[in-house]
Amino acid sequence: MEKSERAKERKEKRLQEISLLRTIPYSDHQRWWSAETVAVVTGGNRGIGFEISKQLAAQGVTVVLTSRDHSVGLEAAKVFQEGGFNVFCHQLDVLDTASITEFCDWLKQNYGGLDILINNAAVNFNQGFDNTVEYASQVITTNYYGTKNMIQAMIPLMKPSVAGARIVNVSSRLGRINGKRSKIEDVCLREKFSNLDTITEELIDQTVSSFLQQVQDGTWESGGWPKTFTDYSVSKLAVNTYTRLMAKMLSDRPEGQKIYINCYCPGWVKTAMTGYAGNISVEAGADTAVWLALLPDLAVTGKFFAERREISF
Ligand code: NDP
Repeated sequence: MEKSERAKERKEKRLQEISLLRTIPYSDHQRWWSAETVAVVTGGNRGIGFEISKQLAAQGVTVVLTSRDHSVGLEAAKVFQEGGFNVFCHQLDVLDTASITEFCDWLKQNYGGLDILINNAAVNFNQGFDNTVEYASQVITTNYYGTKNMIQAMIPLMKPSVAGARIVNVSSRLGRINGKRSKIEDVCLREKFSNLDTITEELIDQTVSSFLQQVQDGTWESGGWPKTFTDYSVSKLAVNTYTRLMAKMLSDRPEGQKIYINCYCPGWVKTAMTGYAGNISVEAGADTAVWLALLPDLAVTGKFFAERREISF
């Protein structure tokens, strides 16, 4: 059997295991959360974000489903409310400072803060073998800076708790440093991204700026950037690396005020982003986010996951 076929078989087996794991209810002593636990999901109006909201609400968490188009978000939340779930909607555009500020005020006033943040909102304009960078600026800004905006805005609102607050960044294997199909050619730069001691916010910001500058100059194709879904891959490399950096920066918070931050790849999921061409369902794609967000005795931070297992950055 070919190596790729064996890998495919292993993945299918793991997805089957996960669908079984999902049927096992959390025991009372594992449930550190209650209806008072508040989870904020960005881009919750559709796709994986909608499903993450559903699965968190089904576990009894209060979910604030956010949507940049308020009317669409209200419709989505209504579906859950009719099903008896504690899901409420608020407008939020992760790139609009006024929208973020207004959301923070509302969240503080109505819920006193939050316990879980799922950074799910993102964009991608390529499918199949396409690799346009026409929307590179929007891709980098939404996926990386939008995630960063939310982390910075939400950290001061994260409630102290014994279990620790949690941030889950929805990312992608395409952002892997040494990914087979998508990696930066510059070995020195790859080494800097690999080593936590050399990762800085400036390194990430300068890398994405340099990519965008080359897109503007028309020189990006010879710049040694990832070959597949270039803008999206660069944006997710930035998200992954920022996750590691934030985990390090948050690590010295005292007991009772811990914030754990991790990222995960949902796999290739049947959503609008893939033109519904993915090979796994939204239920399976949302699973690892919910598992990470609710993990009892979570002591893990700054890691990358897929199918409920740690994978390399
Ligand atoms: P969708 O395109 O279905 O959903 C994306 C969501 O992000 C929508 O709700 C969209 O809102 C929202 N969004 C986009 N821009 C903004 C913004 N500026 N402010 C707030 N919300 C915004 O994609 P998926 O559900 O497939 O993707 C969800 C996550 O999973 C993303 O992070 C994606 O990168 C990641 N992912 C997906 C994979 C897949 O195979 N589908 C694979 C790997 C990772 P609106 O409806 O208004 O456009």
